[in-house]
Amino acid sequence: MEKDFELFDKMRAHEQVVFCNDPSTGLRAIIAIHNTTLGPALGGCRMQPYNSMDEALEDVLRLSKGMTYKCAAADVDFGGGKAVIIGDPKTDKSPELFRAFGQFVNSLAGRFYTGTDMGTAMEDFIHASKESNFINGLPVEYGGGGDSSIPTAAGVLHGIKATNYMLFGNEELGGHSYAVQGLGKVGFKVACGLLEAGAHIFVTDISKESLHAIELKAETTSGKVTVIAKEDIYSQPVDIFVPCAFGGIINDNTITQLKVKAIVGAANNQLLNDKHGNMLHEKGILYAPDYIVNSGGLIQVADELYGINHDRVLAKTKRIYDAILEVYKEASNTGKTTEESANQMCEKRIADRTKRNSFFTSPEKPKWSIRNLS
Ligand code: NAD
Repeated sequence: MEKDFELFDKMRAHEQVVFCNDPSTGLRAIIAIHNTTLGPALGGCRMQPYNSMDEALEDVLRLSKGMTYKCAAADVDFGGGKAVIIGDPKTDKSPELFRAFGQFVNSLAGRFYTGTDMGTAMEDFIHASKESNFINGLPVEYGGGGDSSIPTAAGVLHGIKATNYMLFGNEELGGHSYAVQGLGKVGFKVACGLLEAGAHIFVTDISKESLHAIELKAETTSGKVTVIAKEDIYSQPVDIFVPCAFGGIINDNTITQLKVKAIVGAANNQLLNDKHGNMLHEKGILYAPDYIVNSGGLIQVADELYGINHDRVLAKTKRIYDAILEVYKEASNTGKTTEESANQMCEKRIADRTKRNSFFTSPEKPKWSIRNLS
């Protein structure tokens, strides 16, 4: 008889997958822990009406692996994990369901920290936090760091400064032009930062209120704003494209339109797939890997373990400047794409830690539990 270990085959390099089932609340969730070499797994919890077990499992495995890279790049003492709750966020939520989820998180005794992601909100995790200490990203009044878009936007501005340094030999934000797609929680703050530095920004959003608000803001700064139609954002002949709306926007169709020198933005999963990193490379467009540029929110969440201190978090987001420059230099030395270079640098960081293995035995051990504790 042929042996069948399909689930382990699917797990590939993941350390642990936990299936959480609580019929009384209707909770069906999967927690995936990809790698805890750098510290306990950290990653948000999505709620989505997945169509099948396979779809939910694939999603949680893919997302948790991504978190390992994101944590390594941000140099936080966490590994990669993620959770998905199978259900419709509009109709299937209840306080009891999130308390049950909190109990499962707690049963992992600090191997996995979680909070909001697509389909879940801070209020949901206030319920989960009644059952577990391993919930982060709560509102300030509940002891959390609150709105993560502030450090995320700060990180994007550091990424743009590093890119300007690479392109023009100085990091000044002003004196250059930018196309900002999306003026939401992150994009609006990035646009304000650029205007305050005296830049000319071309902006688009589907929200008229946001466009009006940025025009009002521009009047109080030395910068200039030009509102453009959403389909024209890709073809603007500016220095940097700053995507802050949604993923998959770097694709066959948009790459042919781009007339920029670089892309630096907050949106997650900007490259539709790996080949688009190569296409940008061939076109001579510098791409700042999104998971490094937008890691300010992650830095805040990771920093919560030391107590809430927004100044410290903003200081730590300056690492993004160095990380992006390091990636650009590595890519230019090796001829690889920036995305490949970033991934390899993360893999090396994890491999080096595995070899040294002394970090966790220092007298100042972190309070949370980790795999390599000896
Ligand atoms: P948001 O929902 O507040 O903002 C998105 C904005 O994009 C909205 O203003 C929306 O109207 C606009 N938009 C939607 N469709 C558009 C279109 N076709 N053209 C132009 N604009 C359009 O989200 P956010 O929190 O600002 O996040 C923006 C991106 O950054 C997302 O991809 C998110 O996953 C990513 N990100 C956010 C954070 C964070 O801390 N908020 C952290 C990491 C990554």
